[in-house]
Amino acid sequence: MARPRGARRLAVAAAGLILLTACTPPPPGLPDSDPPDPTRTVLGPQPPVECAPVVDTEASFDPGAPGLCDSYYPQAGNGGYDVEDYHLDLTYDPATQTLRGVATITATATANLRTFNLDYYGPDIESVRVDDQSAATEYSGGELVVTPAEPIEAGTRFTIVARYGGKPRGYPGASGPSTGFLVTDDGAIALGQPQSAAAWFPVNDHPRDKATYTIAISVPSNLAALSNGVLESRREGPMGFTTWTWRESSPMAPYLATMVVGNYRVVTGTHDGRPVVTAVHTSLPTSVDAELARTTEVIDYLQTVFGPYPFDALGGIVVNAPLGYALETQARPVYDQSFFNVDQGGASWVIAHELAHQWYGDSVSIDDWREIWLNEGFATYAEWLWNEHSGTQRSGGATVQATFDTWYRIFSDNERLWRVPPGDPGADDLFHQAVYIRGAMTLHALRRTVGDEAFFRILPEWASRQKDTTGTTMEFIALAEEISGQELDQLFHDWLYSPKRPPRP
Ligand SMILES: [Zn+2]
Repeated sequence: MARPRGARRLAVAAAGLILLTACTPPPPGLPDSDPPDPTRTVLGPQPPVECAPVVDTEASFDPGAPGLCDSYYPQAGNGGYDVEDYHLDLTYDPATQTLRGVATITATATANLRTFNLDYYGPDIESVRVDDQSAATEYSGGELVVTPAEPIEAGTRFTIVARYGGKPRGYPGASGPSTGFLVTDDGAIALGQPQSAAAWFPVNDHPRDKATYTIAISVPSNLAALSNGVLESRREGPMGFTTWTWRESSPMAPYLATMVVGNYRVVTGTHDGRPVVTAVHTSLPTSVDAELARTTEVIDYLQTVFGPYPFDALGGIVVNAPLGYALETQARPVYDQSFFNVDQGGASWVIAHELAHQWYGDSVSIDDWREIWLNEGFATYAEWLWNEHSGTQRSGGATVQATFDTWYRIFSDNERLWRVPPGDPGADDLFHQAVYIRGAMTLHALRRTVGDEAFFRILPEWASRQKDTTGTTMEFIALAEEISGQELDQLFHDWLYSPKRPPRP
């Protein structure tokens, strides 16, 4: 995610919506005053506590857990199963502002399940079937509890079909009014971080459960319906509606799924054999289309630094709704039009930010929201690299080093940038500039310490080794130590977990 520079960063209140479950979040890293532990286990966050129910080999069947025990959002996601694929058949009618959906979810039980939960804040559920048998449901506070006709044994693959329809609801406790399912003048936008998917389909809503997606959206034929991945077909159906079917065949975290409906200028093409689809709302000037077309140029550069682009499609969508942010929705980021003000140096820096997330955030996802610096620090560093490469003039400086020097100098010792540790910023500071700027500075401090040769091997190796899965800060530190041959605990402790300005590298 990126926000326009200077815009007030919205406090994330999402933590408030989630009641603490029985699981206990692990303790944060130790205070800065403690000496580094040679066993290095105290340097950063502890591994997340396992919240899934214990599997009883005597075949007792228990409820699946209502959360995955994320450090900041313990009730996000659900325990007891792992989703492999979502097939969403959606119809959105702007005239009535109603969303109808049939979600077919293929999953495997990881415990003996008597019931299981889905995260959901969407329109009314009409029916749920599990393996083609009617299932009982109960709904409370964003948790849809499903009781299948027959209990499900651990290791069993099963299929859920949920039918729903009506007016989308607001997303309670979301990080702002522009999170969840947003109704616009001519359509709708489903978008948001850290959670948004549950606003438009039942889901295991945590990056730890990535899955493939088919998203078929039927809308009035004069409108476009945009989403992630490859556009497989666009077919006219009855009643003046057309169905746009999109397929994301790489595992995707739920919050990276999107749906954008409205009047858009859609441009299709190919780049290196991959389909490119870009779209700009028709109310915006065509200069926006020209700027968005730099997507392929930015991808070409990022591939020289991060390695091969990880997905089979690319593109971008510029909306005219006042989102206040851009988001790295997989294979096709969504941008607030305010980034595309050519008078202010253009938008290539934010394109570089969101496209860098395709490697760091999307292909390699975080395992716990506490470690969001692994997304935002990397994407911000990509901005600095792009600005140096392209000669883009932005705040900071012409080179990465000058940008680092500027931030190090202008933030005095008592600024919050130094008091918020990017390795564990707290849910209220999930999008604090410490996560972005100090996160990027962490990478530059690493580069200064290990040298360019090792640093520019670490970045692509992280992307290829963790491709299509998740990665943790501890795994990243281990990789950096492996490639550089250096002991880096103190460096990462100072930059990620200390509540004061680290020594200059
Ligand atoms: Zn970002």
